Amino acid sequence: MITTINPYTGLELESYNEDSVKQIEDKLKIADVAFKEWRTTDFVLRSKLIKKVGVMLKSNSKVYARQMALEMGKPISQGISEVEKCAWLCDYYAEKAPGFLEQENFETDYHKSYVSYEPIGVVLAVMPWNYPFWQVMRFIVPALMAGNVGVLKHSSSVMGCAVMLQDLFQEAGFPAGCLTSLIIGSDPIEKIIKNPIIKAVTLTGSKPAGSAVASVAGSEIKKSVLELGGSNALVVFDDVDIDSAVDTCLSARFQNTGQSCIAGKRLLLQEGIAGVFLNKLTQKLTELKSGDPLSEDTYIGVMARADLAEGLEETMTKSLNMGAKLHIGGKRNQAYFEPTILTSVTSDMPVFKEETFGPLLSVTTFKTEEEAVDLVNQSDFGLGVSLFSQNIDRLEKLAPHFDDGAVFINEKVSSHPNLPFGGTGISGYGRELSRFGIREFVNIKTVVVN
Ligand code: NAP
Repeated sequence: MITTINPYTGLELESYNEDSVKQIEDKLKIADVAFKEWRTTDFVLRSKLIKKVGVMLKSNSKVYARQMALEMGKPISQGISEVEKCAWLCDYYAEKAPGFLEQENFETDYHKSYVSYEPIGVVLAVMPWNYPFWQVMRFIVPALMAGNVGVLKHSSSVMGCAVMLQDLFQEAGFPAGCLTSLIIGSDPIEKIIKNPIIKAVTLTGSKPAGSAVASVAGSEIKKSVLELGGSNALVVFDDVDIDSAVDTCLSARFQNTGQSCIAGKRLLLQEGIAGVFLNKLTQKLTELKSGDPLSEDTYIGVMARADLAEGLEETMTKSLNMGAKLHIGGKRNQAYFEPTILTSVTSDMPVFKEETFGPLLSVTTFKTEEEAVDLVNQSDFGLGVSLFSQNIDRLEKLAPHFDDGAVFINEKVSSHPNLPFGGTGISGYGRELSRFGIREFVNIKTVVVN
């Protein structure tokens, strides 16, 4: 039995009977049958149905946002934005996918040679709870446009969202089996990956989960894409536009109650502006409204589970014991964690080295550009880095010095349908979104005619 719990009230929401071995096998068989038909469909039909999904998302955004608020505490206004972004993704791929997968001709000595991008089959998606709709959509929309079908193992915390997603695609007109939600925990995953019906797997989540899934996929010679954790730095130089950077850093760290892989978790301030910047940031932080995720004016909800908030508290306490200073916040009540800033953070402290997945910002100061680059690159994570200065030339010259998958200048790192998204190091491998994402799960087939 999988039981979902409302992290704001601590009360049970719903219990789901877990799929038996036989039910899992049956679902995989249905997905396999669906693939054999779906792969023969043309882009006109695929685009039409994906657009329909987008329309349905927009018209039911409040319903879906409410489910996210109940299951993982996302403030409802942020949930609505998430659903609207999913609809944008549908329109984007409905329009662009045919071009991204168009046959490409190559000059060779042969009479004719070209590459066609063909679907590979049933892809397993193992997904986290933090963006329950967006994470799934950014996998399944390009997958379906490429002619694949998806089997979803969603996080146990958001089984209601998983069921809603399966229903959404069926109600939009997709044949049964195009998106199938498995009602399971993580134990059966190994066996599922080994099932010959599954051709590849994508996982968004933590390093241990990624490592477990990718090991099994590797042993079966099946492709994997891993979108794992991050500890992005926000690097603020002395010549910054302070007010604008304060607002950007605030949302980079505290949106989604700090539970985002690409959140700016480590604030690196150049010494000359550190005091002023921190004062303004702190003032703005006190203006963020904490409260019931279902209230439209709530900005900080609760964390998705009380045990996750406890874990964050432990990481904070260890860092305080090592010499970090509590600047503001620091209190926890069940799943609620006060928006918190720690200063005097050094690179050996857990809040710097580990991923802080909640509303806690660590602050470290630096003197020189070289020191800033070194601090950013000291992290084993590599999702992205944000740089803030009015001297754009200087920042663009700095960009190649970072090992991350993304460098955003005077902006928080975020995902955009038209830009590849993914990490380096222990943040994972492979890319989602844009033309790069849709080509992760295709057979790049070489055809030669002589
Ligand atoms: P998680 O605990 O790793 O869970 C993610 C998914 O993996 C869930 O469906 C989970 O199932 C499953 N899982 C856990 N252990 C597994 C195992 N040993 N074998 C197979 N599946 C396993 O992560 P989370 O707490 O849901 O999400 C937070 C993490 O996701 C953070 O590290 C965050 O940075 C990362 N994330 C990364 C991105 C990105 O794009 N890079 C985006 C969002 C989140 P159960 O729920 O049933 O345990």
